[in-house]
Amino acid sequence: MTKRTIERIIAPPLPHMVGDGFRVHNFIPGSIHSGMERMNPFILLDYGSKHYFQPSDKPRGVGVHPHRGFETVTIAYHGRVAHHDSAGNSGVIGEGDVQWMTAASGVLHKEYHEQEFSRAGGDFQMVQLWVNLPAKDKMSKPKYQSISKEQISRYELPENGGTVEIIAGQYMNVLGPAFTFTPVHLQNVKLNPGASAAFSFPVAYNTALLVIEGLIKVNSSAPVEANHFAMFKHDGDEFVIEANEKSIILVMSGEPIPEPIAAYGPFVMNTREELVQAYQDMENGKFGQLEN
Ligand code: MN
Repeated sequence: MTKRTIERIIAPPLPHMVGDGFRVHNFIPGSIHSGMERMNPFILLDYGSKHYFQPSDKPRGVGVHPHRGFETVTIAYHGRVAHHDSAGNSGVIGEGDVQWMTAASGVLHKEYHEQEFSRAGGDFQMVQLWVNLPAKDKMSKPKYQSISKEQISRYELPENGGTVEIIAGQYMNVLGPAFTFTPVHLQNVKLNPGASAAFSFPVAYNTALLVIEGLIKVNSSAPVEANHFAMFKHDGDEFVIEANEKSIILVMSGEPIPEPIAAYGPFVMNTREELVQAYQDMENGKFGQLEN
C-alpha cells in the first residue's frame, strides 16, 4: 500500500446554463485543461451546485438532444429530475437516486425538472457524469438503469462514522448495483464530523473526488472545501478522507479505456469518421423519435 496524493484541487468554475434548468460548473474536461483523456473513462463532469429555483409552471430543463458512444449518469442531491428518451425509457429521480443511461448506439432524450418540483420551486443540486464506452460497446443497444436510493448499497463505517453508498464498483466487500461496461467505482461518502474513511483503487485508475457538502482533508494534509474537485496522481493506491464537518463526497475511480477519443458535442467516438457518421445517422432519424 502506497499513498495516492492529490495532483490538483480545482475551485468551481463560473457556472453556465444547460438549457434553462441546469446551472452547472464544468470540471471535466473544461477545468482540468487536459482533455477527455485525463480522467477517462470519466469524460465529462457537470456539477450543479446547490441553487434555488423559483417556482415555475413550465418545467425548466433541456429539450430533445442526441447522445452516442457513452453513458450519462445523473445523481440527484436536491430537487427532482425527469427524463424521457427515444428508446422508450423514462423516469423521475429525486434526492439520493441515480439514473444511469447508456446512450451507446444513440438515443434522443430530454431532461427536465420534475413537474411538481418545478411548480413548488426549491433547492436543486445534481451531478451529471459521462462515462465512456469501449469501442466494442459504443454501438450496442441503448439501455437504462434507474437506481433508487433504496437500491444503492451501503457500507456502515465503524464507530458511527457515516456511510459509504456504493453506486457502482465496490467498497470493502460491498458491491454497487450499477452495471458498468468497464471497471468503474462510484460512491457517495457521507461522513460525520471527525470521521474518516480509507479508499483503495488500482494505481492506474483515474481517480478524483468532488465535495458535495462540508469540508474534508485528504491524507490528513490537503483541505478540500465544498464544491471543489480534487484530482489524484497515479502515485499510489490508497488515500484517506477525513471530515472536518458533516460532509458528502462523491468519489470516482475508473480503469482508463486505452483507445483514442474523438468528441463533438453530444457524440463521443474513437475517430472523426465515426463522428461524421453519428451526425448523418441523427439527420436520417436513426436515433429514433421523441417529441419536445
Ligand atoms: Mn443529455
